Parts: sequence; C-alpha cells; structure tokens
Amino acid sequence: MNFSLTSDQQAHVDTVARFVRQEILPQVMALEKSHAFPWEILQKAWQIGILNLSIPESIRGFEVDVISTALIIEALSYGDTGISTSAMCNDLANTVIARHGTHEQKEAFLRPFVEQPLLAAFCLTEPGAGSDNAAMTTFIKKGVDGAYLLNGTKCFITNASYASQFTVFCKVGKPASQFMACVIVPCTPTLPETLDPDLSEDRQISCEKGGNISIGRPEDKLGQRLSNTASVTFEDVLIEPFQIIGDRRQGFKYIVDVLDYARPMVAAIGVGLARRALDVTLNYTKQRRQFGQRICDLPVARETLVAMWKKVELARLALMQAAAKVKEMAPDQGLYASLAKNTAAEAALFCTTEGLHLHGGYGFMSEYEISKLSRDAHIIDIYEGVREVQNMIIGREIL
Ligand SMILES: Cc1cc2nc3c(=O)[nH]c(=O)nc-3n(C[C@H](O)[C@H](O)[C@H](O)COP(=O)(O)OP(=O)(O)OC[C@H]3O[C@@H](n4cnc5c(N)ncnc54)[C@H](O)[C@@H]3O)c2cc1C
Repeated sequence: MNFSLTSDQQAHVDTVARFVRQEILPQVMALEKSHAFPWEILQKAWQIGILNLSIPESIRGFEVDVISTALIIEALSYGDTGISTSAMCNDLANTVIARHGTHEQKEAFLRPFVEQPLLAAFCLTEPGAGSDNAAMTTFIKKGVDGAYLLNGTKCFITNASYASQFTVFCKVGKPASQFMACVIVPCTPTLPETLDPDLSEDRQISCEKGGNISIGRPEDKLGQRLSNTASVTFEDVLIEPFQIIGDRRQGFKYIVDVLDYARPMVAAIGVGLARRALDVTLNYTKQRRQFGQRICDLPVARETLVAMWKKVELARLALMQAAAKVKEMAPDQGLYASLAKNTAAEAALFCTTEGLHLHGGYGFMSEYEISKLSRDAHIIDIYEGVREVQNMIIGREIL
C-alpha cells in the first residue's frame, strides 16, 4: 500500500491550496458576514478546472479519479466549506448522468457545464422525506404523447437559487409508487452576475419545456453561509422520455450509487474543515500567553491539540480508504463511505469545539475564524445522511 501522492495528485493539491490562499482566505470572513454568494470565486474555480470533476473525458470533461477528487475537495474546504459544498454539488447532481446516462444525454446535460460556469442542484430531500428518502412523494405521471408531468416539492437544495439544471429523484406513476426515477430538468439560470436577482421572496423561473418551477427564498443558515440553500417546487413540469436517466424504475439504486460516491466527498469537506480548525488553533495558542507561557505549552492544552491532530489524521485515513474503495468499485464501498463520513464529521465537530475552547472568550467572538468554523461543522454530521443513518448502514454491512 502506497500512501504517497502521485505527481498529478500533488499538482492538484498545490493548485487548490494556492487558490485557497489567494482567492478565498483573504476575504472569507467578510464574505461570510455579508452572506454574499461567492459567484466570482466559483467562476474562478471553474476557470482553473476544479469544478465538474466527474464529467467524462468523452465529452471533454476532466474525469478526475475519486482519490484526486477527494484531495481537491479537502483542499478547497480548508478555505471554506460553503464554497466547497456548492462546488461539490455539481458533481453530486451530475454523477448519475455520467454513470447511467446515454452518450446523447451526457452531451445534452453535461456538456454545458464544460463550456461555461454553471451550477447544478441535486434534488432528493423533501419536507416529509429526509433520512427516509424512500418516503418521497414527488412523482412523474405519463401525460400526452409519451411525455410525463413532474409534480412535488424538494427542500434544502444546495445551489437551487442559481442552478441551470436540477437532477430530481421522484416516484413513477403516483406518489406512493414503489418505483423511483431520476429525471433531469434544465432551466434558464438566474446567475448572480447577470441579473442581480431579488431573492427575498419565492419566485418562478422559466422552464425549457413547460410547467412551473418555483424557488423558495434562500435559507438563512447557522453555518456554511456561502452556500446557497432553497426549496424547489415543480408544478406540471413537462418531462420528455429523453430526460429520464437510465431505467425509470431504478432510481433508488442510482441514489445509493451516487451517495456511495458523494459520502467520501462530504468526508473530504469534514477533513478540510477539521484541518483548518487545527491550524487556526495552533496559530492562536502559539501566540496567546497565560501563566507566563504560550497556551500551546500548557500540558493540558497541548493534550487537546494532540487529540485534535489525531482526529484529523484518522479522518484522513478513513477518507483515503473510502476513496480507494469507491475508485475500485469494491462491494464494500458503501460501508467505508459511511465510516469516512462519520469519522470526518466527528473530527470536524471535535476540532472546532475544542479549538473554540482553546481560544477562550475570543473564540466566542464572531470576528475569530474558529467561531465561523464551529458553526460550519454541524452540517457535516447531517447532510447526505445523518450520523445515525451511516451507523445503520455500517451495522447492516458488518452483520
Ligand atoms: C445546508 C444543507 C444543504 C443540503 N443540501 C441538500 C441537497 O443539495 N440536496 C438534497 O437532496 N438534500 C440536501 N440537504 C438535506 C439533508 O440531506 C437532510 O437535511 C438530511 O438528510 C437529514 O434529513 P432531515 O433534515 O429531514 O432530518 P430527519 O430525517 O428528520 O432526521 C432528524 C434527526 O432524527 C434522527 N434520525 C433520523 N433517522 C434516524 C434513524 N434511522 N435512526 C436513528 N435516528 C434517526 C437523527 O438524529 C436526525 O438528525 C441539505 C441540508 C442542509 C441543512
């Protein structure tokens, strides 16, 4: 087993680390405070090739392998996990097309992302179907001429306000159907630079084929305030058979497939965040003196720093193992994806909580980055499956 990075992987890490140093860290606190959507940063990320990593080479995408993708997301998350969540969501939404779409579908639905900076949204969660996503009620029903109509509401959807395309999981025929499909819904995007949209109210966006899509007001969140999150309602949205990916009864299988790929990516977000919390805390405790010594030299405080470092390193090991399993499509990839996600979420929560504590009262002040990191960390333990759901998967697999 070789733990060193290849020269390509090292080049990816160096490029993203430079991008984070130059483009994100100098302004992240101000951006976060103003709750501004970091569109300029995302456009630059697209220009240097760190968005849309899963798009196949056959349609001129980067088709970056899973291990390199995890390294890139980790490095980007060191800058800000709202930005990396937004970036990663493009792959979350597009992987199912890359894996199960026909060549024509890849050309139609993935090629636009290669040609210009655009955002995609992955629509799985519903108000009544969170962890239990099989309880979803959004559905397609056959209408005239073999086309379908899509109806239903999705909530907490990343990139929803600015997306040019929605990947939607839905039931087939009726809300209580046992079959699920995955459909692709392109729309005219509301990009921040062109329209300066008023997002203070729910609004309608135009839908290429017919029907209505309404986007809720962006959620006002505890953390990851640089990612956009909103609800999406589909009302009689016309879906041509061409917009259905793969087999229209195999949607649940595709969800499992995407989540096996995506959970290590959430783990990468957690590792990047935990590493940032450790570094910010090391810097602070090297400078702040109490009892005539630097805080980092006080034995009990140093023990906490050591515990933080161990969490980061163990989470990264779990992440790399999961990424390797997903890369080789191992039968137990889901087990290791869940392990990585939980281990990284635990590291992020531990390092931010203890890091804040080691900042004393200053850590409680919003001008200190550790307070932002603490708010950001909670969602890692929740999105793409709460901790208990990962444990359910692990329990099922080991038994
Ligand atoms: C910022 C943000 C971005 C998101 N982005 C997306 C996105 O892009 N696309 C998308 O589809 N979704 C997205 N989500 C939704 C996210 O995946 C869900 O919030 C998550 O899966 C949990 O669902 P829920 O919120 O309905 O919680 P619930 O399912 O209601 O769970 C609440 C709590 O109940 C407990 N619980 C639940 N199930 C079990 C169980 N089996 N055993 C024991 N305890 C359990 C846990 O403690 C859990 O935290 C996002 C959410 C947020 C907050």
